[in-house]
Amino acid sequence: MKTITTDFEYLPATTLEEALELLSQHKDDEYRIIAGGQSLNTAMKHRLIAPEYIIDIKGLSDLDYIKFDAKRGLKIGALATHRSLEKSPIVREKYSVLCEMEENVASVETRNWGTVVGDLCNADPAVDPAAPLIALDAKLKVASKGKERIVPAEEFAVGFFETTVQPGEMATEIQIPVLPPNTGVYFTKYSQIHGDYALGSVAVLITLDKKKETCANARIGMSGVASTPIRAKKAEGVLKGKKITDEVLAAAAKVASEETSPISGIEASAEYKRELAGTLLKRVAKVALERAKKA
Ligand SMILES: Cc1cc2nc3c(=O)[nH]c(=O)nc-3n(C[C@H](O)[C@H](O)[C@H](O)COP(=O)(O)OP(=O)(O)OC[C@H]3O[C@@H](n4cnc5c(N)ncnc54)[C@H](O)[C@@H]3O)c2cc1C
Repeated sequence: MKTITTDFEYLPATTLEEALELLSQHKDDEYRIIAGGQSLNTAMKHRLIAPEYIIDIKGLSDLDYIKFDAKRGLKIGALATHRSLEKSPIVREKYSVLCEMEENVASVETRNWGTVVGDLCNADPAVDPAAPLIALDAKLKVASKGKERIVPAEEFAVGFFETTVQPGEMATEIQIPVLPPNTGVYFTKYSQIHGDYALGSVAVLITLDKKKETCANARIGMSGVASTPIRAKKAEGVLKGKKITDEVLAAAAKVASEETSPISGIEASAEYKRELAGTLLKRVAKVALERAKKA
């Protein structure tokens, strides 16, 4: 049996270049990046992982930002915490769904330390920010020494606690486009205890046509109902081009449930989670629709 040791070498970085250089010098299975440490410390404490090197990016103050530009939209740096997103006045004004989502992530203590990007990189299938980011058509910037690539939010997680981030790479930024006119977005999660990971969560973006009668565009993100957060493209197709009635919502909910692939756990069965996804979709889409009418 492999002995799990808690010894590691601590390698702090203060600039992105330094961090990328350190990443390039070590093998993926030897090191772990630490940002706020909220998930990493827990995994190490439980002896689930035992990295030889810890590359600390908390000192990369240049990546601790939330910026909005009327043309380019919102940018969230890798060191921005859940709490700073929750409390950001510009995010509340332009993307209130993100503040609403954050109010339900873990506890204030965890939100004060934990970064939004770190949460996505930890890749728990029920990670909260993923669903609204998918609905908002967000992308993540992933950097390595001398290179950068952009990944759509729905492609960032590739498996259970696994992301597209490769050896030598780190995620540096979330990018969210400006919302088109007549757009409403809403998110909700269902968990047994407030602040716990969700049994299921759904985010819906609806853009209405100029007359505000039919759905010109829809995007649906879901978490907790598959091995990764997912985009419910078929359910989006049910909403697009239609006047959104209760019947249309019921049809979209059925299709969205079918797009999930949950597993049974001690807290709920797969059937329950599948049903939950459809139920949440109906509720969330109704609020998104009302918001789109008022936008
Ligand atoms: C008690 C508790 C309850 C929680 N409840 C919820 C919840 O309800 N909903 C929810 O969404 N989350 C929840 N979380 C998760 C929490 O939000 C995350 O632990 C936190 O946001 C992770 O960010 P961090 O900066 O602490 O990352 P760390 O713990 O430092 O890192 C997490 C993982 O991401 C990697 N990593 C970090 N940053 C980067 C980067 N820039 N590039 C590449 N890899 C990186 C690390 O190597 C590590 O594998 C909970 C956590 C705790 C401890």
